[in-house]
Amino acid sequence: MVFLRKLKPRKGGQNTILFRKKLISIYSHFMNPKIFNSIQSIPAKFVGNQFDTALDSVSIDSRSLQNGSQTLFFALVGVHTDAHIYISYLIENDVRNFVVSHIPEGCEERANFYIVENTLTALQEFAAQYRSLFDFPVIGLTGSNGKTIVKEWLNFLLSPDYNVIRSPKSYNSQVGVPLSVIAINEQHNLGIFEAGISSRFEMNKLQNIIKPTVGVLTNIGSAHDEGFLNLEEKVKEKMSLFQSCEVVIYQFNENITSILSQRQNAFTWSFTNQEADVFIGKKTDREQTELQVCYNKEDFKINIPFQDEASIENAISCLMVLIYFNYDHFTIQNRMKMLYPVEMRLKVKNGINNCSIIDDSYSSDFQSLKIALDFLESQKQSDNKTVILSDIFQSGLYKEELYDKVAELIVSNNISRVIGIGETISEFKDKFQNCVTYKNTAEFISDYDNIDFSNETILVKGARSFEFEEIVWLLEEKTHETVLEINLNAITYNLNFYKAKLKPNVKIMVMVKAFGYGNGGFEIAKLLEHHKVDYLGVAFADEGIALKSLGIQLPIMILNPENTSFNAIIQYQLEPEIYSLKGLKAFLKMAAQKGLQDFPIHIKLDTGMHRLGFEANTIDELIATLKGNQNVNVKSILSHLATSDDLIHKDFAKSQIDLFEKLSSQLISELDIKPIRHILNTSGISNNVDSQYDMVRLGIGLYGVSNDSEEQKKLENVGTLKSIISQIRTIAAGESVGYGRKFIAEKPTKIATIPIGYADGISRGWGNSVGFVTIKNQKATIVGSICMDMLMVDCTEIECKEGDAVIIFGRNPTVSYIAGKLQTIPYEVLTSISQRVKRVFYRE
Ligand SMILES: *Cc1c(COP(=O)(O)O)cnc(C)c1O
Repeated sequence: MVFLRKLKPRKGGQNTILFRKKLISIYSHFMNPKIFNSIQSIPAKFVGNQFDTALDSVSIDSRSLQNGSQTLFFALVGVHTDAHIYISYLIENDVRNFVVSHIPEGCEERANFYIVENTLTALQEFAAQYRSLFDFPVIGLTGSNGKTIVKEWLNFLLSPDYNVIRSPKSYNSQVGVPLSVIAINEQHNLGIFEAGISSRFEMNKLQNIIKPTVGVLTNIGSAHDEGFLNLEEKVKEKMSLFQSCEVVIYQFNENITSILSQRQNAFTWSFTNQEADVFIGKKTDREQTELQVCYNKEDFKINIPFQDEASIENAISCLMVLIYFNYDHFTIQNRMKMLYPVEMRLKVKNGINNCSIIDDSYSSDFQSLKIALDFLESQKQSDNKTVILSDIFQSGLYKEELYDKVAELIVSNNISRVIGIGETISEFKDKFQNCVTYKNTAEFISDYDNIDFSNETILVKGARSFEFEEIVWLLEEKTHETVLEINLNAITYNLNFYKAKLKPNVKIMVMVKAFGYGNGGFEIAKLLEHHKVDYLGVAFADEGIALKSLGIQLPIMILNPENTSFNAIIQYQLEPEIYSLKGLKAFLKMAAQKGLQDFPIHIKLDTGMHRLGFEANTIDELIATLKGNQNVNVKSILSHLATSDDLIHKDFAKSQIDLFEKLSSQLISELDIKPIRHILNTSGISNNVDSQYDMVRLGIGLYGVSNDSEEQKKLENVGTLKSIISQIRTIAAGESVGYGRKFIAEKPTKIATIPIGYADGISRGWGNSVGFVTIKNQKATIVGSICMDMLMVDCTEIECKEGDAVIIFGRNPTVSYIAGKLQTIPYEVLTSISQRVKRVFYRE
């Protein structure tokens, strides 16, 4: 099988047909006929003639390097995205089979097309059809909280006895569920899938795909959900997942029981109600919780290594499944005491020698490897990509076939080096190019000093038992404990939130100036490039140069280009905003000297902000200067609103927009140009919907902050500034804390010291009992003056110890709240966090 790898990177060529024939025979044992059968059975019009392709995977992501000749691609259409536009590109990259709502121009006769009304519905029907070809028990999980944790724990508890297929990460949506189910293969004999919904009528579709036989309702929560009239409706909707279940497991609740149908059995538990099938008492101490379980008139005890309510409930959901599956007490006890905190996030960390590390040291199954490799590609900071990989478990495939597939994935993802750790992967070392292997983690660690890691992106992916966290620890750049954690999913969510407000075809420029508003410039730019925004905006040329040198290819507008930077701007293909005649003339002169053709520039108009821009009385001269010039091209015309965030000044904003309309129209007609026009920033997008023109400039909203308190609720928090407790002491009444004795204790007071201070960007105004931090979800007031590198808090009422995590801002307190108290704006609080605070990026 070794020569398979060498055959793969085939890109077109004359021998295509011959080649494909060969490929089919070689790949035939990879082919999944069930995919072929399922696609044949959905209502679609087939246009094409190439039936000879082996299909073995399904994709919706045009950017995945894993797409290839065996991929069946579903072109999904979102509010502001339409995968049909990538089909031509995908055809060039060997993809041959597409489910589409129409054949894009120029793609006719180049591939096979299944034409359907709605591609998402088709994906769901396809998955439902595919699922129906398998017959084994499937556990369906839903609830407001805990789904993913219960799924991961059940997988851990049951996998010694079953070949489990489960949803990767938290793939529980209208798209995630079909993709999870499509990964089932012949060897699996138990499924665990989670389903999450946000509004009515969604669950039926997921039910039809998962078709669970055992239902688990994890927790219904009381939170008000936007998409539902009330709690009852929400519960009913969730319960519809369980239509086909022989049994439904939940915490005893008469309302839920009344919803069940005749066919469904309830299997319930309770802490308080003896009517439940399983009655549970609990006793929590410092280390663990002991559950006293009473079922079928038998009593037994189990210990779980958790004390908090949520984990205890989640563990009980798992316990119930084990009891229902007839496990004996002894096995239940042994396995449950091994439960562990679930880390679902893929974290990006700064590594030694200019490396970056993607930490996925919590699981190793084939599905999550695919996801991690896609993430690696989207986050890579250099073309050198190393994967440190443990043995892979629970693929449901035979070993040889599994490692063939892994090798193939590694090749298609252009991985430069593989470091395999584990007995099995060592056995199949020959399948990989540029690969070293170690029998176990300890062996790798002892050889660590002899391995060169520099200027590369490293994916560390291993099953829990391999304890790869030790490897991550070795590779990580060592800094102090304060970190700003950036949630990349939240950024994507906020981007889509604002995109959904845009009219069709309105472009989006995202402002990543000042290091992405303090959140991290490159990583966020990379993510935005991945999401195909149209433009980036930065304040100064050096910010743009930094992004371009790291490989960002999106066009970048420089808001405030100094004349001295024009040279570099041209060299790095950056696009200057031109705001004065002086600047324009200087740039034109240089453009002429260098013989540039149509170099993109952006004309800034001053319509009332009075900061930068051409004023009305300079327009004639501007036009005269630009007329007939071939060296530059007016790519866009823009202006900036001074009051978009404040409805009191709505009239002023309107007057700015009117003036912009007038001046830009004059430029357009007299210069006979077709520039992109744009004037709205974040608050403008929300408050001046009719003035989107051709593009908007999104800033603060992307980072999860809105100037409007209602809109704020709809955004997701992006940055969490975290630290730890360095030391705790108790001082007596009358004793003081910190410089200048600004805090005097009135009673014995427990004081915690946190290693973050004003040099990290925490305003001194936030000290002296004005501000607070959060420890264990409780407020701890900052007492005394904030020092350069430290601050002290009162934690008398909080059960905490040295080393515990401290939240400086995030969900509570929010950046907006802090800004309000400090009488400033969130922009200042965010951008003040100093560069010595390490940024950690993660994805849920
Ligand atoms: C910073 C900036 C923006 C973005 O503003 P937000 O209020 O953060 O959305 C837009 N346009 C210009 C010219 C800017 O300087």
